[in-house]
Amino acid sequence: MKIIDGRQISDAKRAQIKELTAKIKSETGKTPGLATILVGEDPASKVYIGSKIKACENAAIKSFHFALAANASKDEILSLIKSLNSNAEADGILLQLPLPDNSFAQECINAISPLKDVDGLHPFNAGLLNLSKNWDELIEKNALLSCTPAGIIHLLKASSIAIEGKTAVVIGRSNLVGKPISMMLLANNATVIMAHSKTKNLKELSKSADILIAAAGKPRFINKEYIKNGAAVIDVGINRVGGKLCGDVDFDDVKDMDISITPVPGGVGPMTITMLLENTLKAFKNRDRSA
Ligand code: NAD
Repeated sequence: MKIIDGRQISDAKRAQIKELTAKIKSETGKTPGLATILVGEDPASKVYIGSKIKACENAAIKSFHFALAANASKDEILSLIKSLNSNAEADGILLQLPLPDNSFAQECINAISPLKDVDGLHPFNAGLLNLSKNWDELIEKNALLSCTPAGIIHLLKASSIAIEGKTAVVIGRSNLVGKPISMMLLANNATVIMAHSKTKNLKELSKSADILIAAAGKPRFINKEYIKNGAAVIDVGINRVGGKLCGDVDFDDVKDMDISITPVPGGVGPMTITMLLENTLKAFKNRDRSA
């Protein structure tokens, strides 16, 4: 088993981002900025937002935090987003999800200017990904790509795992992970199979994968019966079992296999925040260009 060390790959990328921020500052006199919005007091969301703010600090990106009460109305959230859309210091806007009332989350995301949508979840940016001819075009367009899937592509490339022509099986079809990672793998010329809770022959399909993306949010349900030797396995799941974090892959069961795998924690997680920082710099450049 070869571990794909998400922390190490992420640290190297963050060091580059920090250098780029300094270059932007010295060339333009401006510092890229990220506005973060947290609604309510959910402990996990507070930890995630805290890590994002800290990562900004370490990369010399300015951050502005807005905390709204758990019972904040949709209109209050929309009005904050609207004011941040026209705030010149906020290049990116991040709305921490889920909201206490998640029924209007998409409406709030839709209100974020697509140019500031650093989570890449606005229909404009999701559409840009779906309409892209290939990965190079997305890079050329400086597209704001959804952070977790973009982080997975970075992990694969940084680990010299070939994507083109490979069979990739994605387990999960959420708008946050499953769908965008499928489109990103496709943009990189993989043959992509999207599996989900209604898929009948999951074991057989997932065993055909050269690249297996496990994003179902089901603790340790992927064991060696689902994986072929030689595969690259990206475990996106973050599950808490008995007070400890684990992924969707049964790590102990697969540890003697000849595979590359991301651990949980320390795999995909750190890359997600790194891509948020990268998107903030992209948003800065895109706005600078469009100004
Ligand atoms: P989700 O609940 O929105 O989607 C889960 C998907 O898995 C659904 O499309 C469903 O059809 C599929 N699924 C569920 N059970 C299945 C089964 N038995 N077989 C096949 N498919 C099945 O979740 P999400 O937001 O996509 O997140 C997935 C996991 O990834 C969660 O554990 C989440 O915490 C984690 N996550 C991690 C990061 C990170 O940064 N590491 C980021 C986002 C999500």
